Amino acid sequence: MSAQHVDVVLATTNAHKLEEFRRMLPERGVLRLGALDEAIEVEEDADTFAGNARKKALTVARLTGRVALADDSGLVIEALGGRPGIHSARYADTPEGRIARVLTELTGVEDRRAAFVCALCLAWPDGRMIETEGRVEGIMTYEQAGIGGFGYDPIFHSPELGCTLAEATPDAKDAVSHRGRALAALLERLA
Ligand code: IMP
Repeated sequence: MSAQHVDVVLATTNAHKLEEFRRMLPERGVLRLGALDEAIEVEEDADTFAGNARKKALTVARLTGRVALADDSGLVIEALGGRPGIHSARYADTPEGRIARVLTELTGVEDRRAAFVCALCLAWPDGRMIETEGRVEGIMTYEQAGIGGFGYDPIFHSPELGCTLAEATPDAKDAVSHRGRALAALLERLA
């Protein structure tokens, strides 16, 4: 057990992200995760993942007086010029609608290379920050497969895992995912 742990609040209302961070961060590890007491709305108006993560983390750290961890992430599809990118969460009104829109935009497209990108920012109330980024390469499928994960996982095939992220076990997803890699880099910087 580390005596020098940092208590952090996760600057998100996304229950799926909270669940992934909870299972990746051991309870008695360096970062001890808490949830926000009440939601803090931060407009995600930066034009990069890193810019949005920084804005969310700094705002929540200043407002709560606690160390805040923010994640901004999304799906970047080569043939669509990087879309949906920073607009991934808002690409349609529902998760099903977002998947349908991506598959429709990829109709007839053979180059289906894509990546999930995750920018993390750990911010202190005095403005200090640690920023990292993680990325996982993949191929957009033609139809959905799997029921695990969230978001675009059922249409994102990971060559490393040999299945979609929605077919992978939680541990397997964490081992290769953009969020897992960004978090590993963050823990390395903290050590
Ligand atoms: P954010 O809250 O603006 O960072 O939204 C990120 C959005 O990107 C999510 O709502 C999902 O649509 C998508 N996304 C991010 N990470 C993942 C993932 O691990 N699997 C599937 N979709 C993801």
